[in-house]
Amino acid sequence: MVDLKEKTAFSSGWNFDNSYTKLPLSLFVKQNPTKVKAPHIVLFNKQLAISLGLNAKKLFEDDGNIIFSGNKVPIGSEPIAQAYAGHQFGHFNILGDGRAILLGEHITPEGIRYDIQLKGSGVSAYSRRGDGRAALGPMLREYIISEAMYALGIPTTRSLAVVTTGEPVYRDRVLAGAVLTRVASSHIRVGTFQFASSLNETEVIRTLADYTLNRHFSEFVSSENKYLLLLHAVIDRQSKLLAKWMQVGFIHGVMNTDNMAICGETIDYGPCAFMDTYDPATVFSSIDQHGRYAFGNQPHIAQWNLARFAETLLPLLHQDLNQSIQIANDAIQTFPIKFKQYWLSDMRKKLGLFTEQPDDLSLVEELLLCMEKYSMDYTNTFRDLASDLNIHEHMLDEPDFITWHSHWQKRILNQNETLDNAIQLMLKSNPAVIPRNHNVEAALSAAEEGNFNELAKLLEVLSEPFKEGPTSRYYRTPPAPSKTPYKTYCGT
Ligand code: AMP
Ligand code: MG
Repeated sequence: MVDLKEKTAFSSGWNFDNSYTKLPLSLFVKQNPTKVKAPHIVLFNKQLAISLGLNAKKLFEDDGNIIFSGNKVPIGSEPIAQAYAGHQFGHFNILGDGRAILLGEHITPEGIRYDIQLKGSGVSAYSRRGDGRAALGPMLREYIISEAMYALGIPTTRSLAVVTTGEPVYRDRVLAGAVLTRVASSHIRVGTFQFASSLNETEVIRTLADYTLNRHFSEFVSSENKYLLLLHAVIDRQSKLLAKWMQVGFIHGVMNTDNMAICGETIDYGPCAFMDTYDPATVFSSIDQHGRYAFGNQPHIAQWNLARFAETLLPLLHQDLNQSIQIANDAIQTFPIKFKQYWLSDMRKKLGLFTEQPDDLSLVEELLLCMEKYSMDYTNTFRDLASDLNIHEHMLDEPDFITWHSHWQKRILNQNETLDNAIQLMLKSNPAVIPRNHNVEAALSAAEEGNFNELAKLLEVLSEPFKEGPTSRYYRTPPAPSKTPYKTYCGT
């Protein structure tokens, strides 16, 4: 007799084509998700499901519980755990999907390939001492922040669903278990290349590099120097991404090389958080005791990670190792230049500037100095500057800020654009709403108690971060001053 549940799983629109499983066997292991006791879908991203060509109604009403929990894999899926390595806070380790299972690559009706991954779906060969599971809070947190990043226009993995498992997970206390379904352009990490490199077989690195070129940078596949072009393209995507993080005050929190995706999407939302008051030294993660991944240090760390990526490509860049090192070094040196170009270009938009002037950099830097000195809110300062332009009132009555403000106003009036155009540019470049820590925490606490209303409201307002209205006003308010600094914890 045909299992009815299985039958519905056949018709949810999945269209798998699993190219990663054709790679050398050293790069992954076949691994089914481990079944859970009582799966219950608590969040479902209907719009994302539709954009993937999936049958959203069917998934939500029928198959979602069994598929997003890993209790049954959809037809066409060939579940694997991927091997990778990584520098964790500077120390090299062999890692791998210890609590994630890649169901496979789903091809949308438009022909776009996405990894569908279950996070928290049980142990694999790479779990080491971990239980392969995830707690509800951190999975909801990844859902909130990744979807907020998407709405802010920042390349990111997406979140399709969260299901609770009906099983406890044991951390410092007993928590509800959950599984997140993550959608990514791919899960190829800097750490994937580091793992391949650790095998000391040039052919494995070459195969992985060719695969990555095919999948993400197909414009270079027939170029003679395709591996150097790959390196440059990855550097370019990361410099663009880091510039975007810095525009919105995003702190990743754990920029280990295994948490940096080659495709240029933000990946692995663990202890990440958005900064309220501007301070480049801001660190939220409880385990980042030396500020390695502090807000202002992120571009530098990205370059460090990219150097680790470049090292893995050395055998492919030139036959002569010394020449390879020179080529790789030259490429890595372009990162700070590219980053600064992207960053300044985005910053100009945040300040309503359409043109480029030599002293734009100092204009931005002086504002940031004021923001740091007077503990100004990063998001609201930029957003309010737009209305400042209209009402000609200063948000801060301090001489250095007033001097900066008049320089800025002169600069704005010195371009061939109307004031209204400048304001419009600012309003679409400066979000009104970001996922502020106190709002995220409030929504998570309620959800952990079984009340998802606050979470739903937060997700709604974060889906249109540039819009202002009665609801967004509440979410624009910075937290009340607190004696204890906000701390985040790794999402394990
Ligand atoms: P992360 O800090 O989330 O980037 O994870 C670092 C490494 O630890 C990865 O190899 C994860 O798969 C692994 N890991 C994290 N949590 C668990 C867990 N609960 N069980 C098994 N492995 C885990
Ligand atoms: Mg990770």
